[in-house]
Amino acid sequence: MLLVVNAGSSSIKLAVFDGLVEVMLGRVSDIGPAARLQLGHVDSLAALTDHAAALDALFATMAGQGFSAAQLTAAAHRVVHGGADLVQACRITPARLAQIVACVPLAPLHNPANLTAILAMQQRHPEMPQYACFDTAFHATNPAEAVSYALPAADRALGLRRYGFHGLSYAGLVDRLRQRYQTLPKRLLALHLGNGASLCAILDGVSVATTMGYSPLDGLTMGTRAGAIDGNAVLRLAQLHGIDGASRILNHESGLLALGGSNDMRALHGAGTKAARFAVQHFCYWAVRHAGSMIAAMGGLDAVAFTGGIGENDAVVRAAILQGLHWTGLAFDAAGNTAGRANLHLPHSAVAAYIVPATEERQIAQQVNALQAQGL
Ligand code: ADP
Repeated sequence: MLLVVNAGSSSIKLAVFDGLVEVMLGRVSDIGPAARLQLGHVDSLAALTDHAAALDALFATMAGQGFSAAQLTAAAHRVVHGGADLVQACRITPARLAQIVACVPLAPLHNPANLTAILAMQQRHPEMPQYACFDTAFHATNPAEAVSYALPAADRALGLRRYGFHGLSYAGLVDRLRQRYQTLPKRLLALHLGNGASLCAILDGVSVATTMGYSPLDGLTMGTRAGAIDGNAVLRLAQLHGIDGASRILNHESGLLALGGSNDMRALHGAGTKAARFAVQHFCYWAVRHAGSMIAAMGGLDAVAFTGGIGENDAVVRAAILQGLHWTGLAFDAAGNTAGRANLHLPHSAVAAYIVPATEERQIAQQVNALQAQGL
């Protein structure tokens, strides 16, 4: 059985897969003095001050529910940033680990947590093969003009370019649509709308453009991230607040939180304030504006697919975005949207619209199963 590890800055999620069947799921959120551990029937608060302590607690809880580490044949980690070179899932060798470490400056808010989990697993189970699957990898097919910033060559040589993220979600979405309909729409606009949010232009099954760039900050208005912002405005923030202060503002204090008072879309709908309504409008407006850019990158549109916490569950946001795309010939079924049906388009619609549940952990299991089948 395969252990899938998804470590975030203050959380860690474990899933155990038997083939592609998820047989156990556990998580620790709010790692710190009052961390919450959920696994099977256990839901408890404890002081778990770092990722290693959280992993140990999850393993102990798994053992209490009849799962031992000895049943695991490998561990697979979600790694947010693979840089320009790590564009496929891989077995973690010392050389690959060094490459992942080298990506830390590219993703200082994300890769350190992934690395902590990798190192903690290596320490506890040195004999267990470990694999890495990258959120950037799906976008390796973007053309050079899509990923290049028009910066001086010396700066571009430092890795200052667009990478794109949410790749495991998009790869899973493509697989799910293929399974569901046996065929893929040629020009597919995928919308991963969660706390982090991005769009991806998927042409013949491969990414050709995406809204996130050098980091997950770019593109859409997000829970706490500003989304697209003029570089000179960033410089002004840095002047006023220092580099760390500007980073904190742009990544953690902006977005829906800054505009509407909460980073949670459900709370914004419930708030009933003008500011909360404006935040939701801003989110939808920019999703549609960026969708136009993605559609242009594909030369048109055959289908849209929503995924992520908001994309899968929020009929109000979906309706606003679908309405904003009616110029593409998309006609959606309002009742089907409210009911959260898998197919949202009307029979005469020129463009199909789908809801596809995010399956990032399953996608990781699939990528690692494929590597193992090749003996890698
Ligand atoms: P993350 O990027 O942290 O994985 P999620 O994909 O879990 O985020 O999405 C979190 C967002 O989804 C929040 O804004 C939350 O309000 C929203 N969300 C989750 N469930 C629902 C729901 N049933 N209705 C509306 N919004 C929802």
